[in-house]
Amino acid sequence: TKKTNRLGISFYSEEQDIYHEGRLTLMSNLREDLQKDALELFYQPKLASDSGAVVGMEALIRWNHEQLGFIPPDEFIPLAEETGVISRLTRWVIRRALMDFIVFREGGYEGDISVNISARNLSESDLPEFLAQCLNEFGVPANKVTLELTETAVMEDPESGIVALKALTDIGINLSIDDFGAGYSSLSYLKRLPATEIKLDRSLITDILESESDRVIVQTSIDMAHNLGYDLVAEGVETQEVLDLLKSMRCDKMQGYYLSRPLNRENMQRWLSELQAE
Ligand code: C2E
Ligand code: CA
Ligand code: CA
Ligand code: CA
Repeated sequence: TKKTNRLGISFYSEEQDIYHEGRLTLMSNLREDLQKDALELFYQPKLASDSGAVVGMEALIRWNHEQLGFIPPDEFIPLAEETGVISRLTRWVIRRALMDFIVFREGGYEGDISVNISARNLSESDLPEFLAQCLNEFGVPANKVTLELTETAVMEDPESGIVALKALTDIGINLSIDDFGAGYSSLSYLKRLPATEIKLDRSLITDILESESDRVIVQTSIDMAHNLGYDLVAEGVETQEVLDLLKSMRCDKMQGYYLSRPLNRENMQRWLSELQAE
């Protein structure tokens, strides 16, 4: 912002510039670290409510910068979306997740792998081709891969969003609608999405034991998901009580700290092998 001092000379507010520069520096650091492979993926399992089997694994990005320290994804993902860095980031995540997935499979893991993508990725017309090439390169069956996308991302531009999602699901991968119930939901579009899974937002799970209205919303969402032919996943399961309640509500899959925190690849391999040994 331009300000004018008492002498009538205009200058730029220093604060603004520092803020602006901070964001740019952050993004050039991110680009650099993506280039250097200096980011990491953590994995959090999704468990089937009935059998307790590990049916899925969600990749969550972690960025620990040499100088800046740990930066949470909630801070740099929105910036990466605004600046377009998300295109490279998503491709980095897809490749790394597929490579790690092969390692999990060699250890006997039979579930699938989920990767988060952003609204912005939907406008990349070559993303389906990129994904297909990676599946081919790493020998991963398409039906073992799920892309998680928030419903608000699709609702920004439903018509072209649906076309882009069809192009992705045409190669055989699965689609999961993330953070369902957190924003504005349009049920008429929901049934048109080529999804297989709906993930209830954590905000609906957090107070489920105390809040009658949250319970009603969750039960309604579960029933609706089933009527439309989708599986329903609850995220943010932090206690046995919540797990039991969700199970009684016929929730299909669960994810949360109570089952496992996100773990790096080595720790996830260990977690999986301990599970098999039980
Ligand atoms: P999300 O996709 O909704 O992921 C769930 C978030 O909840 C993760 O935070 C996870 O660590 C956290 N979580 C899991 N279980 C629990 C629980 O029981 N209690 C609580 N309080 N939290 C739990 P995280 O890893 O910090 O990621 C935050 C968000 O950043 C993600 O939300 C997603 O929107 C975005 N994100 C993370 N990794 C990626 C990525 O590789 N690509 C893209 N595009 N976005 C990503
Ligand atoms: Ca997610
Ligand atoms: Ca979510
Ligand atoms: Ca989220």
